[in-house]
Amino acid sequence: TKWVYGFGNGKADGRAEMRNLLGGKGANLAEMSVLGLPVPPGFTVTTELCSHYYDHDRTYPDELKAQVQAALGQIESVVGARFGDKANPLLVSVRSGARASMPGMMDTVLNLGLNDETVGGLAARTGDARFAYDSYRRFIQMYGDVVLGVEHYRFEDELEGIKRERGVSLDTELTAQDLQTLVDRYKAVVETDLGQPFPQDPEDQLWGAVGAVFGSWMNQRAITYRRLHDIPASWGTAVTVQAMVFGNMGDDCATGVAFTRNPSTGENAFYGEYLVNAQGEDVVAGIRTPQNLTKVSREQAGSDLPSMEETMPETFRQLCDIRDRLEAHYRDMQDIEFTVQQGRLYILQTRNGKRTAAAALRIAVELAEGGVIDQREAVRRVEPQALDQLLHPTLDPKAKRDVIAKGLPASPGAASGKIVLTADEAETLAQMGDRVILVREETSPEDIHGMHAAAGILTSRGGMTSHAAVVARGMGRPCVSGAGDLRIDPKAKTVSVGGITLKVGDVITIDGSAGEVMQGEVPTVQPELSGDFATLMGWADAVRRMKIRANAETPLDARTARKFGAEGIGLCRTEHMFFEADRITAVRRMIVAESVEARKVALAEILPMQRKDFVELFTIMTGLPVTIRLLDPPLHEFLPRTEEDLAEVARVAGVDLGRVRHRTAQLHESNPMLGHRGCRLGISFPEIYEMQARAIFEAVVEVKAATGETVIPEIMIPLAFSKKELDILKAAIVAVAASVEKEKGAKLDYLIGTMIELPRAALRAHELAETAEFFSFGTNDLTQTTFGISRDDAGTFLPDYTRAGILEQDPFVTIDRDGVGELVSLAAERGRKTRPEIKLGICGEHGGDPASIHFCESVGLDYVSCSPYRVPIARLAAAQAAL
Ligand code: PEP
Ligand code: MG
Repeated sequence: TKWVYGFGNGKADGRAEMRNLLGGKGANLAEMSVLGLPVPPGFTVTTELCSHYYDHDRTYPDELKAQVQAALGQIESVVGARFGDKANPLLVSVRSGARASMPGMMDTVLNLGLNDETVGGLAARTGDARFAYDSYRRFIQMYGDVVLGVEHYRFEDELEGIKRERGVSLDTELTAQDLQTLVDRYKAVVETDLGQPFPQDPEDQLWGAVGAVFGSWMNQRAITYRRLHDIPASWGTAVTVQAMVFGNMGDDCATGVAFTRNPSTGENAFYGEYLVNAQGEDVVAGIRTPQNLTKVSREQAGSDLPSMEETMPETFRQLCDIRDRLEAHYRDMQDIEFTVQQGRLYILQTRNGKRTAAAALRIAVELAEGGVIDQREAVRRVEPQALDQLLHPTLDPKAKRDVIAKGLPASPGAASGKIVLTADEAETLAQMGDRVILVREETSPEDIHGMHAAAGILTSRGGMTSHAAVVARGMGRPCVSGAGDLRIDPKAKTVSVGGITLKVGDVITIDGSAGEVMQGEVPTVQPELSGDFATLMGWADAVRRMKIRANAETPLDARTARKFGAEGIGLCRTEHMFFEADRITAVRRMIVAESVEARKVALAEILPMQRKDFVELFTIMTGLPVTIRLLDPPLHEFLPRTEEDLAEVARVAGVDLGRVRHRTAQLHESNPMLGHRGCRLGISFPEIYEMQARAIFEAVVEVKAATGETVIPEIMIPLAFSKKELDILKAAIVAVAASVEKEKGAKLDYLIGTMIELPRAALRAHELAETAEFFSFGTNDLTQTTFGISRDDAGTFLPDYTRAGILEQDPFVTIDRDGVGELVSLAAERGRKTRPEIKLGICGEHGGDPASIHFCESVGLDYVSCSPYRVPIARLAAAQAAL
């Protein structure tokens, strides 16, 4: 087996396509070598060797040593130095490199090959003893830390100690003699801590470093990182060994990092930083202020430190040339590491650069417009989730964050405002022009007006599908939910966390994309939806198959959804329309009514309001399908809570308070999520659904008369588990339609379908499809009922499940393909068998999650429906799923 792949001198055994075998770093070094770029020679030990190492009790195959020897020999002949040679030593760097970049693994050991003897050779050949001893002490420090496991601070203490003794403050002020003393002290530290001297044999050093890279593949940080990013352990890491070049040999030396385009804005301008007379880790360590690469960016930054363009014009030109070649070759923005040794430029690494969402869009669009990539590739290049950053005001990345609490990133965007603890307060203050953050233990439907008035919502309880999270996402309000450390004291009107006590009226900032809560106001920046955004979304729309609808019930949500490109409404949760302050009492009166007659009186009052809602919705969505779900209240959300509520209901219903109280107690449920909700309510009280159907049909007639537009409503029955429920309810709706047709002399077109929210409904889908003309997968409830995990309480224990590796992701965020997903695909299949043309969609929160959208494409759903602010994400994700 070939375990070792050499590169350098214009040749290489590997290529960029071999990143699985050589890791990202190794593959790109090989590629750059072949391109003729100035890459110091080296070799890469394959990821397969890493797997072999773990499969064979952490040992190497016999033939490995000879292969490494031969590859080292190649480097020696290109460089003209020998590994371990006292007079003319070759030094190497050893770096890890997996297929996907993985912070948390051992990264780099520099200057390997130095020992008590070779250091003299290096000093003599370079005529620079200070440089030689500085390199040696850096090597002992790095190797001691990452390979031998000596605590980092042990070396730092010695370094500080000697600076104190010499009365200097900078490392660069230490003399060659000082550094030699430091080397002795470092070696003593290693010997004390490990009971063994620092390894002097360069071969031992090399194998030690290779073993450390492989060992780091299984360290805890790397394991955690892999779990979070779905990277299989079987991939393994490669190790790259490369001849050292030195950026720390004087003022004609430098080291730096460059991006072929600006990684924060995407502007097609060379961008980067460098340090004169330094080694790579100095840039990262932030000891010295790096200088700008170009004159323009130096001037923009208002820096007095000269740019590379000004101090090393010739080298800078070479670097610019390499920038053009690498970007043209990789057809993407590159992040390049380089070193200048005595005026000679070397490239040590290139990779696709990390970038902000705005930069990703701009780069993808400009590359496509420049003909470097095609439009489909541009669509593929932008991560849908990242669009979130663009759709909401976000915290100014330059601003300082004083984080006082953490919760779940429930609804993205950032907002600052005064703390308020009740919805009414939120509304009052907002009306007076204040920006407020509504802080609650959890929210309920009664808080909607306050949530609407607030700039952001913060709760101390609840998960990603808690009421606060779902409603906030729907409204496009930033929300941090389940910040468990918050203590809210409504009496004292304070919120305390970690020793800090804030009062109502104090200003906080929440970042719903990061789940962070900050004290005071942090500046934000506004979103920009035209330009590159619009261009890329247009390309995405051209390739996607699935339609994108929105979950919306208010006119504001519906308008937002259209603005973001929704192609209809996939879920109008009518119960949300019932919480408006002016109707909640009528709704409560209907719920607690003890007779059909009493209920009908209350319903008659609600009917015109509902009709008006639908007229508005249909008008906003003209020409597009609108799915209206009949009432699905977890009943407890509607019951009167306070004494005032009870009294109010009693007053308007004209019954005595005791009766209302008794009835409310009667309706109380221990498991409301599994209680008298969804179509069960319609079965018990058919007049409720009849009223809603009438409101819908009358609205259709009214819109037709007013605008000439024909609306085809899709009426959806929630939480059914049998065809029988559907038969009964469909018959009632059809009867209402017939009477509206008769009364108005109109002809109505409509669909009646159901949600699939229960495992039984999925299993009996072939029967349900006999009655239902469409299915919409309500994966919130379907997840809840498949797992038997309450969606409102999951937040308290699901993190333990992900930590323990039982669940990889929160199943309420990303669809559980194995369980819930199987029910979805089985129901789709069974439904289609009965009714081949059945319309299939999804309207649970998963409809806005890119991974779940890929799943929906694979099952062949007709559309996904999600909160208005997720519509662009869904458009892009659906396009990528179709590619
Ligand atoms: C669902 O259950 O997935 C759904 C969309 O309905 P709701 O969230 O209103 O229960
Ligand atoms: Mg549901």
